[in-house]
Amino acid sequence: MAMRRLKKLISAFDQPSPVLIWSATAIGLLVQLAVFAGIAFDSYRSTLHSSFEVAENIAALIEQDIGRNIELYDLTLQAVAEKVDDAEVMALPPRLKQMAVFDRSSNAPGLGAMVVLDKGGTIVLDSLSVTPRKGNFVDREYFEFQRDTPRPNGLYISKPFQARLQDGKWSISVSRRLNAADGSFAGIVSGTLKLEFLTGRVDSAALGKHGVATVFRDDGIVLVQSIPGNPNVGADWSRAEVVRRSRGTNAGTFSGEGSIDNIPRLFAFRKVEGFPLVVAAGIARNDVLVPWWFKVQLIATVFVAMVLSVVVLVAMFNRELRRRIAAEKGQAALARQDRLSQLANRLGFDEALSQAWRRALRERQPLSLVMIDADQFKQFNDSYGHPEGDKVLAAIGGAIGGAVRRPGDIAARYGGEEFAVLLPNTDMEGAMRVAETIRKQVAGMAITHELSVYGVVTLSLGVATILPSKTLSPQALVANADRALYAAKTGGRNRVCLDRVANIPAGPTPERLSA
Ligand code: GH3
Ligand code: MG
Ligand code: MG
Repeated sequence: MAMRRLKKLISAFDQPSPVLIWSATAIGLLVQLAVFAGIAFDSYRSTLHSSFEVAENIAALIEQDIGRNIELYDLTLQAVAEKVDDAEVMALPPRLKQMAVFDRSSNAPGLGAMVVLDKGGTIVLDSLSVTPRKGNFVDREYFEFQRDTPRPNGLYISKPFQARLQDGKWSISVSRRLNAADGSFAGIVSGTLKLEFLTGRVDSAALGKHGVATVFRDDGIVLVQSIPGNPNVGADWSRAEVVRRSRGTNAGTFSGEGSIDNIPRLFAFRKVEGFPLVVAAGIARNDVLVPWWFKVQLIATVFVAMVLSVVVLVAMFNRELRRRIAAEKGQAALARQDRLSQLANRLGFDEALSQAWRRALRERQPLSLVMIDADQFKQFNDSYGHPEGDKVLAAIGGAIGGAVRRPGDIAARYGGEEFAVLLPNTDMEGAMRVAETIRKQVAGMAITHELSVYGVVTLSLGVATILPSKTLSPQALVANADRALYAAKTGGRNRVCLDRVANIPAGPTPERLSA
């Protein structure tokens, strides 16, 4: 059963129908489309993934750079605080004292003026001047913080401000609290760092056309951004997504919209180790996805062009196939047709007979055959010439074809002046009737045949009916019909004779139906 189905399937490919060809083409194209979509999606994901990696790496680089600098500032502040605690240093004359206290401050790149403020906020030591510049910073946020937040030590990074002592440039203060022996507040040491210095560190970040690197305090106050002019300096971003996300963790990535311009970006953030600062690096999604999309469109265009060409080729192939099948059918039909009589030829008859035999065997239906022979035709040719004889044979063919009406019936020129009519599902009586009709038709055409006893062209017909069985063969039917034909000839011609076959129930016995 399965074997038969498989054979059927294979034979379907042997002679593919247009539906089969189109289906196979569609399946092939769909598979390619799926592969293409898969590749496009995969490249989308890896594009985003590698962009996140770039953002992470850049955030890490900035973080390390800034961390190292802040650490240096902290060490410098610690050194100043130690000197301030040292009574011997403090007892030195002003010039030496100033040199001793600030001797390491020049090692800290970017750090501008350093000052020591007393607990009232007044400058008592100044790195830029032996006689301290006049100034009081009691109102500074970082001074208040250090005064009001007793800590054994600890660096404080201030909010950005426009420095009074540094021609109004945006700066931050890095400060340490000075404690008296009893732990009470004794003032602060503070260094001023121009934000320009940090801007240089974020500006060099290669984050693409719309990428932004930001350094902010962990409470969300923006220090610097890689945007010309650093326009958001000092802004409170405590509500921004990046600040919220950085709260619980040291580093992370996410995709979100920028707080500045609503451009969707791929963000990586990282806390500066040991200090209350966070670095965020964002790459604009479009900066990385536009090239990706361009590639996808390019491949899609190629794909569509390929689909179109495949469709055109398959359509052409199908047309050619149809044309060939039609031509083959036409040739096959021609090869089975007799040109003179327009009936089936011997080949067509033989095929039709074996087909009808198998079918009748399957359906247990009788099969009848009428064998027909023109009477005294040699003499006709001799009298009227071969070409005239041919015309008569064509006329006989027309008469026979006209008498055979049912779809399964086959009328054939058996050879020479002999014809055959195959009548499936037809019993003896029916076959006799058809034979008689043919005989009358031809006799009725009254084609003069002077040498015939009847004076006109006549036919002799032999009818045989058989119920096909496995022990019999189609040749038995032909032989029986031939025998009947012979009987018609010997019986005087121009008549129908029947050959009774043993396996056919007895019907009427018109051995000789007509004369
Ligand atoms: P009968 O069948 O009545 O016994 O006599 P007959 O003369 O018809 O018999 P026979 O079989 O001896 O001769 C058949 C003749 O049919 C031979 C040939 O002259 C003629 N014939 C056969 N084929 C053709 C054909 O294609 N065209 C023409 N014009 N004549 C043919
Ligand atoms: Mg003959
Ligand atoms: Mg004959």
